[in-house]
Amino acid sequence: MRGRPYNTMSNGEQQYSLKLDFLGDLKRSHHCGALRANDEGSRALLMGWVHRRRDLGGLIFLHLRDIHGITQVVFRAEMDSDIHARAEHIRGEFVVAVEGHVEKRSAETINANLPTGEIELVADKVWILNESRPAPFPMEDDLSITEEVRLKHRYIDLRRHRMQENIRMRSAVSFAVRQSLYDQGFHEIETPFMTRSTPEGARDFIIPSRLSLGNFYALPQSPQIFKQLLMVGGYERYFQIVRCFRDEDLRADRQPEFTQIDLEMSFVQQNDVFGVIEAMLEKAFAAAGATVKAPFPRITYKQAMDSYGIDKPDTRIPPFHRVEALFEGTPISGNGLPMVAIVVPKVGQISRKERDELKAYGQEKSLRVFDDPKRLERDFPEQMAKVREITGAGEDDLLLLANWAAEPDEHLPEREALKACGQLRLFAAQKYADRHKLLDPKQFNFLWVVDFPMFEWDPEDNRWVAAHHPFTSVHDQDLDLLTTDPANCRAKSYDIVLNGVELGSGSIRIHRADVQQKVFGALGFTPEDAQHRFGFLLEGLSYGAPPHGGIALGLDRMVMILAGETSIRDVIAFPKTAKGTDLMCEAPSDVPEKLLRDLGLTFLRR
Ligand code: ASP
Repeated sequence: MRGRPYNTMSNGEQQYSLKLDFLGDLKRSHHCGALRANDEGSRALLMGWVHRRRDLGGLIFLHLRDIHGITQVVFRAEMDSDIHARAEHIRGEFVVAVEGHVEKRSAETINANLPTGEIELVADKVWILNESRPAPFPMEDDLSITEEVRLKHRYIDLRRHRMQENIRMRSAVSFAVRQSLYDQGFHEIETPFMTRSTPEGARDFIIPSRLSLGNFYALPQSPQIFKQLLMVGGYERYFQIVRCFRDEDLRADRQPEFTQIDLEMSFVQQNDVFGVIEAMLEKAFAAAGATVKAPFPRITYKQAMDSYGIDKPDTRIPPFHRVEALFEGTPISGNGLPMVAIVVPKVGQISRKERDELKAYGQEKSLRVFDDPKRLERDFPEQMAKVREITGAGEDDLLLLANWAAEPDEHLPEREALKACGQLRLFAAQKYADRHKLLDPKQFNFLWVVDFPMFEWDPEDNRWVAAHHPFTSVHDQDLDLLTTDPANCRAKSYDIVLNGVELGSGSIRIHRADVQQKVFGALGFTPEDAQHRFGFLLEGLSYGAPPHGGIALGLDRMVMILAGETSIRDVIAFPKTAKGTDLMCEAPSDVPEKLLRDLGLTFLRR
């Protein structure tokens, strides 16, 4: 059993060249988190990684780790010097099996930080199953190394407790989602990855076809059209936990491929979809140890903008209040555009400098900020009494008034102004969040936002574009507005928001080919265009498509929030960097010239 000593390489690095043991028919008796004081005296065989090692000469201590926990193992030279000598070769992250008996630790050596901390395994057998080069970073939760190093050696990063907790939570959440949806009568059905473009507002990743030179598949931005066609196919309740691909300029926390809980239902209205999702989320959150209670509050997009200046309000912070009517005719009223009162509770006194920061932030957003309620109270006593009444703002609360101080945008003046006020509200709240625990990460405030506008003005293209996607149904009463007043045309679409994060969105779909044609028209597609891109959908709808609707929720973000992380990369096993690269396998990468030739591709420049 005895191994050979280490070799020293020409570069001075030590390389272990032990004679390794075979697993053979060894079987674990327990995992590394299992043994307790009442196992005293019993025999156990554990396998795992060497988390930590202390060699005190006659005594060698190992912390043996697997995904379930850590157990202390001790080799005593006095018991068996051969075994002890073998154990001397063991280093950090070696993979070993040890067998021995369980002993209680003496009172002063109990480790209260480990569930197994009352015992240790006194080893009388050891198998070194694999050696390891020195790990590039320790397996600790609080690491001071860059994310780059972690991602380069992701398989090692994944061994860390915190990552293992996150990835396991993700698995538990996915399982609960599946269970709940199966229980609610859904079928899990796969849809193709190599397909035709499905627009969700991003660029497609495309795959060149070798057998049909010059043509390309697109990776799906979502299974949207396929799930609708499954409804035409009569499946009634479909779901999939599915990868979606979007080639976007990556902002800090986006991934080019990400996972959605995607579902679609026939013969339903909005409320039916909400019921399914609420039941599913109760289960999914419970699987992660969190409690949420349905039904979730609902507000319209208009209410969200009027009270929060954002379509994904974080309701852990109080709304703002519109007060322009109160100040009409006064010197501080703003040209008929919104004026708001923002309250951040229990902030207490803030310094001149802090006030200036709030003002400066407001200015950046084209807002005039009135940060001195005392002065306002002196100049506008009646109005301010009303403001205090409406907002309930006390002496201890931060009270700001703000209004729009720039030329209004031609298409959506009010929305623009409200958005800026919403940003100021968030800025102020986040700035003081720590002072009074406003933004408790363990508080899960769900919210449905409904009745989004059907269209958004795209200033770059100078045209209306679909706010959700072009398959979204219009409110029955607003059908005529499609062509006469697109700005006020409401969609049967909804978002589910959690603590200010848009977790998912969905809609009741257009199930009639003639209406779908009309919406394509309103979006500026010529009939030929629409036919070319979506002919198969239009044709599908024309064969008795049932009324249907659905939703998709971002699994990555959901688990991120549940795990208390701030980056989705920490809940994805093999994520890409913010630049869309995989540092571990170095993707994207070049490909052999021959492959390019076979695909009929040449590049002008690399
Ligand atoms: N396909 C949509 C999306 O990915 C969700 C939906 O409407 O169901 O955002």
